Amino acid sequence: MKLCFATNNQHKIEEVAALLGSHFQLLSLSDIGCHAELAEDFLTLEANSKQKAEFVFKNFNVPCFADDSGLEVEALNGEPGVFSARYAGPQRNSEDNMNFLLQKLKTFANKKAQFRAVITLFERDGLMKQFEGILSGKIVDQKRGSLGFGYDPIFVPDGFSKTLAEMTLEEKNKISHRARAMASLVEHLNVRGYKKISCATR
Ligand code: IMP
Repeated sequence: MKLCFATNNQHKIEEVAALLGSHFQLLSLSDIGCHAELAEDFLTLEANSKQKAEFVFKNFNVPCFADDSGLEVEALNGEPGVFSARYAGPQRNSEDNMNFLLQKLKTFANKKAQFRAVITLFERDGLMKQFEGILSGKIVDQKRGSLGFGYDPIFVPDGFSKTLAEMTLEEKNKISHRARAMASLVEHLNVRGYKKISCATR
C-alpha cells in the first residue's frame, strides 16, 4: 500500500520508515510532487497535524498521514508543546531550543516531561482518523548523546538511564511517542482490511 508521510523532517521519515513493514511503500512529499512548506497555523498538535495531512490529501489526492509532535514539560504548564520546533525563535534551532528550555527549568525541582505525537491519517476514501502516542520521562540538565534530533539529548524516558540521543533508532522506535501513534495507525489499517502489515513496536 502506498502512503505519503506529509513531513519535511528527514529524521521523522527515517524513524517511520524503519517502523513500517515492507507491505507499505512510504512516499515522501517530493515523491508526490509536493514542494510546499506545510503550514502549522493552529495552537494544538491535533489541529496542526490535521492541517498538514488535509492539505496533502486535498491537493494531491493520495492517502497520507502527518505527524505533529512536541515536548510537554509539567513544571512549565505543558510548554513548549506545539511551539517545540520554534521555542527559542523562528530559526528553529535545536541547540537554541534546548538551552532556552534548560534555562527556564533551572529553578524547578520537578523535571517531569512527556513527548506527545498526534498523527492524522487521510485514507483513500477521505476518511480522517487521529492517533496519539505519549512517551513519559524527565528532562536532564546535561545534554547527552548525538543520535536522534530535537530535544533527544536532554530527555530520559521513564525506566531508562540513557537519553533518547544515546539510543539507537531501533531502541527509540520501541518506545517513542511517534512509534506508539504509528502502532495504532497500523492497527487501524489492519482492522480496515488492508493487507496484514508489521510494525516494530507490536
Ligand atoms: P513538528 O511536529 O515538525 O512541528 O516539530 C515537532 C518538534 O518537537 C521538533 O522539531 C522537535 O523539536 C520536537 N520533537 C518532536 N518529536 C521529537 C522527538 O522524537 N525527539 C526530540 N524532539 C522531538
